Formats: sequence, C-alpha cells, structure tokens
Amino acid sequence: MSATVLEGKFYAAQIKEGIKKDISVLKNKHGITPGLAVIIVGENPASKVYVASKHRSCEEIGIYSEVIELPADVSKEILLAKIAQLNNNDQIHGILVQLPLPDHIKENEAEILNSIDPNKDVDGFHPVNVGKLSIGEEHLVPCTPYGCVKMLELAGIDIEGKNAVIIGRSNIVGKPMFNLLLSRNATVTVCHSRSKDLASITKQADILIAAVGKPHFVTSDMVKPGAVVIDVGINRIAEKKLVGDVDFEQVKQVAGAITPVPGGVGLLTIAMLLHNTVKAACLIHNVTITN
Ligand code: NAP
Repeated sequence: MSATVLEGKFYAAQIKEGIKKDISVLKNKHGITPGLAVIIVGENPASKVYVASKHRSCEEIGIYSEVIELPADVSKEILLAKIAQLNNNDQIHGILVQLPLPDHIKENEAEILNSIDPNKDVDGFHPVNVGKLSIGEEHLVPCTPYGCVKMLELAGIDIEGKNAVIIGRSNIVGKPMFNLLLSRNATVTVCHSRSKDLASITKQADILIAAVGKPHFVTSDMVKPGAVVIDVGINRIAEKKLVGDVDFEQVKQVAGAITPVPGGVGLLTIAMLLHNTVKAACLIHNVTITN
C-alpha cells in the first residue's frame, strides 16, 4: 500500500484563498493594507532565496512588502535602531529578521528578536508569543509548526486523542509543535538527540513529525503502518537536490499519509507568514479576522 501524499501546494492554496478574502476586507472596508518588513543581514545565499520568495508571495497576494538589506558587518546598534523604526512605522504590521545572523552578532540574536514589537512578531519567536502559545493562547504562532497543524486540519486528519511524536526540540519547530498538538488534545512525545531507542517511540506514533535536519533520518522500520508522517526537514544533499528528514520512498510504503520534500511543509510555512502578517494588521487595528 502506498501513502496518500499531502501536497503542500494544494493546502497552501486553500490558506491563501482565505487570506485574500481577509486582505480584501481590510483594504476595502477599513482602508488598511497589511505590510511586512523583512530584514536580511549579509549575503547568505540561502537566506536571499528565502527572502526573495517571501517578498514575491507578499506581492502576489496584495501585502505591502519591504526588504531591508543590511551589510554583513552591520553593528547590533544599527540593527536595533532599524527594528525600533519599523516598530513605530504604521505601514508595517509584521517584522521578521532573517536567520542566521552573521557570526559577530549571533550572540545577540535573542536581544535582537526580543526587540521586535510582540504584536508585529510574525515569526512568533518573541518570549511574549512563546509564553502565550504555551498557555494555550495562540497569538502569533511560529509559521512552520503552525503550517503543519493547519495542513493536518485541512486534510481532515483528527489530532484529538492521537499519539503524536515529534523528533526535534528546537524553539522554531519542535517546541511550538508540541504546544500546538497538545492544545489540540493529542498525547505528545518529544524526542531529541539523547532519546534512547528512538524507533520504539516513533513506532507508537499515529502522527509522526520529523524536524531533525538529517537527510533520510526516518526509515520505514521507525514508522507504524498507517501513520501520518510530516517531514519538516530541508537538507541539501547536492547542488540542486533537496531532501527531507524522512526516507520518502521507503516510508510511503508504510505510512497512511506523508508530506514530500520539496513541495510539502515549506509551502505552508510561507502561507502562514502571510496569514500572520494579516493577523498582525487585524490585531493592531482591532479588526476581527475571519480565517
Ligand atoms: P535544529 O535546531 O538543528 O534542531 C534539530 C533537532 O533534532 C534537535 O532538537 C536535535 O536534538 C534533534 N536531533 C538531532 N539528531 C538527532 C537524533 N539522532 N535523534 C533524535 N533527535 C535528533 O533544527 P530545526 O531548526 O528544528 O530544523 C529542523 C529541520 O527542519 C532542518 O532540516 C531545517 O532546515 C528544517 N526547517 C524547515 C522549515 C520549513 O519551512 N520547511 C522551517 C524550519 C526548519 P538536540 O536538541 O538534543 O540537539
């Protein structure tokens, strides 16, 4: 038996349809154009591709988008001053600092991210938003785990009462994913590099989320027959070849449903960034959002 492939394009398109409607209401009824500012520091080629794609997606859907390019040797003070300006800019509702930061300011990452107004924190990384998520108040939620959960919901996959296992405990993916699944009443286990006998845990999963950053890490002997497998990983194994954390060809023979890489979760991440930007605009202007 071969698993149903959960195509990111299909679910991202559904999310974007809802966002378009919200943007139209915001523009026509309230005279508000949602705006996103993305700050990129330095010349990291992968970051440039991600930022260009975010900018394009904003323009396509009708979100005002600004990309602020700062030199690789920019000081922490200049970067903080730029964020402060954007916090006070009424045209901008979402602010995102593209990671990773260059080495000389890496140690200041928390201070830099925490300087973003929590109501404009469309990445959902600010401690206020992390705290809200952990007490079950979803304010601005990190885009990748949020996209995974939205995809499960749109695909009609029940989360309540299911055994969900997450491999990975990063602040960006694993931990927020834990909170999102828990608040939807799954029984959630989070595994990491010190977990013992990983396969015996992952085989209990009705929903298995892989966020490890290792190509083809999840093999078919780690998956319960019929499980839903969500592959968050993006690993470059050759100049133009991207693969996930799951051995797709093997695991699709065992799983009930599976996301591909590329063409899976990544597309939902961008859709949720657009969603968060519109949501931030609604929150800032006290307008009720429908989606
Ligand atoms: P990360 O910060 O490097 O975290 C990786 C996690 O995997 C850590 O918690 C680590 O455990 C765990 N891990 C490593 N080796 C393991 C092992 N042998 N057994 C069990 N757990 C192990 O990575 P991340 O930022 O969460 O990203 C994970 C992947 O998702 C990457 O490929 C990244 O590129 C991708 N990603 C994709 C999107 C998207 O839009 N699709 C967005 C974000 C990230 P320890 O904590 O013990 O070290």
